[in-house]
Amino acid sequence: MPATFTTDTVLCDVLVVGGGAAGSCAAAAALAHGAKVCLAVKGYFAQVGMRGAGASACGNTEHGLPRLPDIPGINYQPEQMVENAIKAGLGMADRKLVHLLAERAADTRRDLDAWGCIFPTMGAAGLGFPFIRAVEKKIRSDAAVLENIMIFDLIIEDGECIGALGFTIQGTLVTIYAKAVIIAAGGDAQLFSRNVHPSCCTADGYAMALRAGVSLMNMEFMQIFTATVSPTRNLVHTWRPEQLEHLYNRENHYFLEDYLPAGITAESCRDENIRHAPFSTRDAASRYLAVGIVKEILAGRGTENGGVYLDLRSSAHLVKPVVREFMRYKGIPPEGPPLEISMAHQCSNGGMQVNGEAMTSVPGLFGAGEAITGTHGADRIGANMLAQCAVFGRTAGIEAARFAAGQRKQRPKRKGSADFPLIRSETNGAGNRSSGTATKYRKSLAEASWKYGLVLRTKTGLEQWYDLLESADDRLFTVERMLPRKN
Ligand SMILES: Cc1cc2nc3c(=O)[nH]c(=O)nc-3n(C[C@H](O)[C@H](O)[C@H](O)COP(=O)(O)OP(=O)(O)OC[C@H]3O[C@@H](n4cnc5c(N)ncnc54)[C@H](O)[C@@H]3O)c2cc1C
Repeated sequence: MPATFTTDTVLCDVLVVGGGAAGSCAAAAALAHGAKVCLAVKGYFAQVGMRGAGASACGNTEHGLPRLPDIPGINYQPEQMVENAIKAGLGMADRKLVHLLAERAADTRRDLDAWGCIFPTMGAAGLGFPFIRAVEKKIRSDAAVLENIMIFDLIIEDGECIGALGFTIQGTLVTIYAKAVIIAAGGDAQLFSRNVHPSCCTADGYAMALRAGVSLMNMEFMQIFTATVSPTRNLVHTWRPEQLEHLYNRENHYFLEDYLPAGITAESCRDENIRHAPFSTRDAASRYLAVGIVKEILAGRGTENGGVYLDLRSSAHLVKPVVREFMRYKGIPPEGPPLEISMAHQCSNGGMQVNGEAMTSVPGLFGAGEAITGTHGADRIGANMLAQCAVFGRTAGIEAARFAAGQRKQRPKRKGSADFPLIRSETNGAGNRSSGTATKYRKSLAEASWKYGLVLRTKTGLEQWYDLLESADDRLFTVERMLPRKN
């Protein structure tokens, strides 16, 4: 953060924070309902491979909306979808929100079709990017798109959210006054040293909402996947159990059997693993694969880059052609040298609590996508996150536009930079103020989060993690409240 900065002010009806699948759908829906929209993105909007499109632009996956009604050959069963989600979430999803997800999916799909969304089948072009691409032109022409801006705090007045503050990459402090704000800033993947998200997913939405008094729920639940650690970070799906027979540590030892309790076989562990991500609530055995991988690495028997080896050479032909092509493109060809893999954070199931209109407990503050929770509990059904981004993105856009239309309140007088004093807390000395200290701390926190908070969670580990978190205030600058809160 620069010592001196210029300031700018933006006025709009609806501010959308984040340009991933959820933010794009929200902005498009708000525009369609007559709102004057501003979309703020920490990076470039709608550019694959650059921070800005968020997790939504990661390839090689699928989304749930093509499974919806009116699609030839699709047997859509909303009641079944609800029961599956509740069961997978071990009862910790919000039944009402799950129902709404199933109920609104058809209208959402119709809107996406109308916006020109082309649903690809599974492959590198998949995931949420088609949603973004479909609405990009409309958003760029009809909304104010602010790129390379980090929104870092909400403006709360009389208990209502009336805007947000951001810093641009050039160092301009931007005050955005809005009648409604939608947080669609994604999840907290960058908290973990091994993750498969772009660098922009740093839990800013959770932090801002929490400071504004919004409850976060289900934060301990996340998807944890096998992923390569070098030379690039990518999910590694295995497609047949026999592919996992070639999983070994740096001592060339096949270690899975070492971690299986009585009654669990390597076969059942591998069979379950190929059905979906490890550690699923729907499985009894697959978790031991994840536990084994992490324990081997922690015991110092991992690879130089912090993984274990998975040799797919003899089974490369089992990898689907489109995935094989994607892996080659990413520099991890299945027929190449053994992959170095670890367990990585893939998706957060927790987030802000919202109601059926996607509004938080703070009037005027809405949310969608990985920033919110409720439609998933302890575990989620594959492809449901992107379905939620589209359905609740659309809901948030519509409801925020309605809320904004009903607001007659005058916005506060425009303020100058002097009205936003940046209060920095005292730290232990000049050394602590260098960005090197922040980088070092962040790295150690990410490693501790992976070690203590992802696959293996013990009382001692969680306490050590907590201690490190608590020490943050002594080590870093903290930017405190930008505006006095009256609530
Ligand atoms: C490799 C991978 C595979 C996946 N596979 C599937 C799958 O098959 N099916 C499925 O349903 N889900 C899958 N997921 C999960 C799903 O892709 C994400 O949960 C979803 O894309 C999140 O979308 P979002 O719009 O909420 O957030 P994101 O797409 O992460 O977008 C967040 C946006 O917020 C912006 N932002 C963040 N902080 C700020 C800030 N302070 N100020 C301004 N802007 C900010 C970011 O730049 C970005 O534009 C996968 C995820 C990954 C990483």
